[in-house]
Amino acid sequence: MLGTTVIAPPALRASSYTIYVDLADGDGYTLLAHGYTGAYDLVPHAVAAYVRSLDVRPPKPLYGTWTDEPVTGPVTPPNDATLDTLRQRGYLTTVTAEEERAFFDRVVELKHAREVGSPSYVIMPTYDCNLRCGYCFQDHMRSDASYAHLLRTMTPSMIDRVIAALPGIEERHGIATDSGKKRPFLFFGGEPLLARARPVIERFMERARAAGPSSFAAVTNATELDTYADLLGPDGIAVLQITLDGPRERHDARRIYADGSGSFDRIAANIDLALARGAFVDVRMNVDRTNADGLVALAQFFEARGWTGQNGFSAYAAPVHATNPSIDRKTCFNGHELNEALAAMRAEHPAMAAIATGDDSLRTRLRRVMRDGADPVPMMMKASFCGAHTGMYVIDPFGDVYACWERTGDRNVRIGWIGEDGRAEFVADRLENWRSRTVSSNDTCRKCRYAMYCGGGCAVLAEDVHGTMFGNYCDAFGRRFRLAVRDAYATRNDALPGDDRVLELRAL
Ligand code: SF4
Ligand code: SF4
Repeated sequence: MLGTTVIAPPALRASSYTIYVDLADGDGYTLLAHGYTGAYDLVPHAVAAYVRSLDVRPPKPLYGTWTDEPVTGPVTPPNDATLDTLRQRGYLTTVTAEEERAFFDRVVELKHAREVGSPSYVIMPTYDCNLRCGYCFQDHMRSDASYAHLLRTMTPSMIDRVIAALPGIEERHGIATDSGKKRPFLFFGGEPLLARARPVIERFMERARAAGPSSFAAVTNATELDTYADLLGPDGIAVLQITLDGPRERHDARRIYADGSGSFDRIAANIDLALARGAFVDVRMNVDRTNADGLVALAQFFEARGWTGQNGFSAYAAPVHATNPSIDRKTCFNGHELNEALAAMRAEHPAMAAIATGDDSLRTRLRRVMRDGADPVPMMMKASFCGAHTGMYVIDPFGDVYACWERTGDRNVRIGWIGEDGRAEFVADRLENWRSRTVSSNDTCRKCRYAMYCGGGCAVLAEDVHGTMFGNYCDAFGRRFRLAVRDAYATRNDALPGDDRVLELRAL
């Protein structure tokens, strides 16, 4: 006798990548966001509570709590049409967690392949510097005699070798020599724009331009920038990142010359000069608990000096990380703590609006999604944290090539070098090690609902914590992300047509 086998429908569960955002003006609604489909949807609390009730993982801070309040009371399934929409947009799924992770891996792999794209070049003319900032991650190079060999300057013949090597590097990225694409060069050091390095920079720029369209930027302490005046501006070194750590007396206690004297006045004069030349100046403040209270006075200084509001001027605060053994970790902020400290100052002091945090750029991009209808997948999502895992080449005075500027000056970790014949050679396993770090390459990030918004955090800071770069460095990202979404949502444009993004798990 033939029997009938009844196949039970697969169990419905919340996607492991569903994010729940409490809104400031939620009024009975929660914003659902999805960690790889890019969907954002406003749903009644009851619907969010239902989705959450199907979340098989207990909420953990690392993977993203969304509210301090536990779900209490009965939850009722929404109607079939709503259930269908929740499934189509990725919040609910019938695939297992393992199947979904495998799908996530594939999404990350495709995204990463696109990110690898074009190379970018960080050129280090020297590791030497005229300042002795206490928190400098390269301090040992100038204070320990056994590193004295590093303090040489790139030679003219090395410049020629570096330029000759570029087409070969680009070929590895599938870019033809005659592509017409601008090569982005960032001068970095030590201090790249020392007065005595000017012939090096000038030659480099000449040779680079002769080899193809180029753009130039620099991370500089700006103490000797006046000796580069004619090279600054939209057609020369167009973008400068310059550090001021507070108003004069605070800055001069931190960013000092070897004799202990301060650098504030020279730097401020050179920022005036760079702005007058039409260069874009982005002032960075390295902030910890010992100088944060100087930010208001610094913002007021920007205003008094006429910098605030100029098109070519921006400023941002960044937390000091304990990458130098002399730094007391207890004095460091994490990203969220710094945001909170700045928010409190902004509430009291209007001048502080001129000082951004890293999360302001997150908010700006989210506003483009919520207000202008931009596609969040290219706008917001990434498979890896920074250029060290895609196409960045850091080239030092000796022609050694590194993936990350925080890991330079030690040939044992270089990913390659520029040979005497002007060809780049690579150490395959080291290059692969750096370039393969994505949010799928460690199990913690791989399971994280925020992964493609976060990128997995800085590899060097992760290594500091875990002993391997294949680990997470969260820096309170989940909380920062939800707050940024909440703020951006307040600027939403309700007139935008609904987002009908649908990503079927079987589609890839
Ligand atoms: S100016 Fe930059 S490179 Fe020089 S000591 Fe200070 S942090 Fe280090
Ligand atoms: S580092 Fe980023 S992606 Fe990784 S677990 Fe932390 S928040 Fe998630």
